[in-house]
Amino acid sequence: MNERAQLPATTEVLIVGAGPVGLTLAVSMAQAGVPAVLVDKQAAGANTSRACVVHSRTLEVLRELKVSDELVNRGLIVPRFTVRDRDRVLMTIDFDDLPTDYPYTLMIPQDSTERVLLNRLHSVGGRVHRPHELMSLAQDEDGVTGTMVGGETIRASYAVGADGMHSIVREHTGIVFTGDTYAQLFVLADVHMDWHLPETEVMLYYSPAGLVVVSALPGGRHRIVATVDDAPGQPSGEFVQALLDARGPEQQPARIRDVVWSSRFRVHHRLADHYRAGRVFLAGDAAHVHSPAGGQGMNTGIQDAAALASRLTAVLRDGAADIVLDGYETERRPVATEVVALTHRITRVATIDSVPLRKTRNALLRALDWVPAVHHSLAMKLSELSVDTNRGAKR
Ligand SMILES: Cc1cc2nc3c(=O)[nH]c(=O)nc-3n(C[C@H](O)[C@H](O)[C@H](O)COP(=O)(O)OP(=O)(O)OC[C@H]3O[C@@H](n4cnc5c(N)ncnc54)[C@H](O)[C@@H]3O)c2cc1C
Repeated sequence: MNERAQLPATTEVLIVGAGPVGLTLAVSMAQAGVPAVLVDKQAAGANTSRACVVHSRTLEVLRELKVSDELVNRGLIVPRFTVRDRDRVLMTIDFDDLPTDYPYTLMIPQDSTERVLLNRLHSVGGRVHRPHELMSLAQDEDGVTGTMVGGETIRASYAVGADGMHSIVREHTGIVFTGDTYAQLFVLADVHMDWHLPETEVMLYYSPAGLVVVSALPGGRHRIVATVDDAPGQPSGEFVQALLDARGPEQQPARIRDVVWSSRFRVHHRLADHYRAGRVFLAGDAAHVHSPAGGQGMNTGIQDAAALASRLTAVLRDGAADIVLDGYETERRPVATEVVALTHRITRVATIDSVPLRKTRNALLRALDWVPAVHHSLAMKLSELSVDTNRGAKR
């Protein structure tokens, strides 16, 4: 579909950013029959695999948009996380007894997830208007006016910043992005490798040198994520091999055959002080960023979009009072607060370098491994089923 059509002059909801969060919101709006315009500054969608983990709660939310079946068809079902110290399993977290129709983690590259969402957007009559870069945003009592870099303007009742970590929408609202930056860098690599451990597990290797996560991806690839002090912009096979040799399994070592894609990025743990400023809302990375340990970023953002969509629909289509929209921050900000804290803890605990503390940690994890309630609680948290407002109270 030609995405370069002229920008409409007016709409109900202006959505800035067509990543997974903006796409989810646009599909929801189109499906509900609420006029929305989705703009993105890039001439084409991203084609890198970045966030590869889709959790149970996200699949439940996306089922309402009729995209979960397609995601499950394209992805790889992984029902277990393990925490390891070299060859020793310290803790096993099973997802297969979770109270959901999706009792697992789905491994699927982000570009595939975005493709499935985009196809669904087209099938419900929507589109991405690109390339249109929002330059400024002004609001008054009756609405918002977005101005693009090319000078075009668009008037809307509400605007949503789904424009990522460096959100210009957030900047224009003046909402503070409170938090900090991890000293360490994260390396990501999608590789082909000889790997002798189960493909039905996401494995978190705890090591004094840093965390390494290994998981299988569809198509015979593996995803490696690691914290490092320094790394080249595109880590090589040798670089990733050295990380696995130093931190991964010793008895059945991995052997990298080739690197399909690799990247290095700096991670922040930050949370927007507010999710709403007048007629403007924030969702996804624009509102919260954190360590990728646990693969929560995109999941939390997609769920933000679904929650905001149902409130915007209530107001714009069903005539509910504007105050309904205040509930978005109350509903979603505590979820991100918990995710930022949980992923921060996982990252810190994973990288303890004092030998006595490391021994204590390992002993504690092995002891906790005998407590089913601990597994269940962690699985509920990681899958994000623990904060399920549609099922009522927090479990
Ligand atoms: C290298 C890398 C690796 C990652 N790996 C993982 C991982 O392993 N696990 C994980 O959970 N998360 C990971 N993440 C984070 C994950 O990709 C994000 O949480 C997710 O993409 C958030 O989606 P989003 O839609 O909020 O924002 P984004 O995906 O960042 O999308 C924002 C969109 O807004 C557009 N945009 C920005 N500014 C403007 C503007 N002014 N006007 C118009 N459009 C604009 C951009 O072009 C972009 O398309 C990774 C991120 C990176 C960068």
